[in-house]
Amino acid sequence: MNEIAENINNIIKEVQGVGASLIAVSKTQPIKAIQDAYDGGQRDFGENKAQEMTTKYEALPKDIRWHMIGHLQRNKVKYIAPYVHLIHSVDSSRLLAEINKEALKNSRIINCLLQVHIAGEATKFGFDEQELEAFLASGELEQLTNIKVTGLMGMATFTDDKEQIDREFRGLKTLFDDFQDRFHLQNFELTELSMGMSGDYPIALRHGSTLVRVGSSIFGERNYG
Ligand SMILES: *Cc1c(COP(=O)(O)O)cnc(C)c1O
Repeated sequence: MNEIAENINNIIKEVQGVGASLIAVSKTQPIKAIQDAYDGGQRDFGENKAQEMTTKYEALPKDIRWHMIGHLQRNKVKYIAPYVHLIHSVDSSRLLAEINKEALKNSRIINCLLQVHIAGEATKFGFDEQELEAFLASGELEQLTNIKVTGLMGMATFTDDKEQIDREFRGLKTLFDDFQDRFHLQNFELTELSMGMSGDYPIALRHGSTLVRVGSSIFGERNYG
């Protein structure tokens, strides 16, 4: 078995043991590295740039499920709309409306997660809790008939403080359960909770993550050149 597939094998036991799924974050990685992961059985890959993801989509087997995990500009949605499996990083209602438009053009329903801002840092993207609540209460989402919201996504603060990470993930899980109970919209069904990266996925799994997004622990440190 190649080294990348071996790394995946080690992580996936932990992830599948609690019923979650592993998304291999392949941003900046060459086609060869993704092919190695694919040969080991991995089918879910995460990218954070629309054009890079599209280039890889075109070059690689078509049964790969491509996950957009990075901040997505509205003018880039059209590149990924024909094939994207799940967009984790929806951080505004304007972006959601654009995804709906492109989904309609492609005669498909695009599954989306709403990204919630849970980290201490001010620089991370995402809805604030109150903002998200107001959006869901507005009923606006039900007009977007080519979108299905299937969950929430969050990124914890980049810190060594495990208690802070623990608090942030626990907070997102609480919000997830609360929204699941309170909002019953046609195209809103919270089943996925996307949280956890190389440094913090064991904590995320303890708090009910269903999708972990792991890059460097699989492929090694990224080289941004
Ligand atoms: C890069 C990235 C990851 C993976 O990070 P690693 O620390 O390499 O595991 C996960 N989620 C998002 C949104 C990312 O941009």
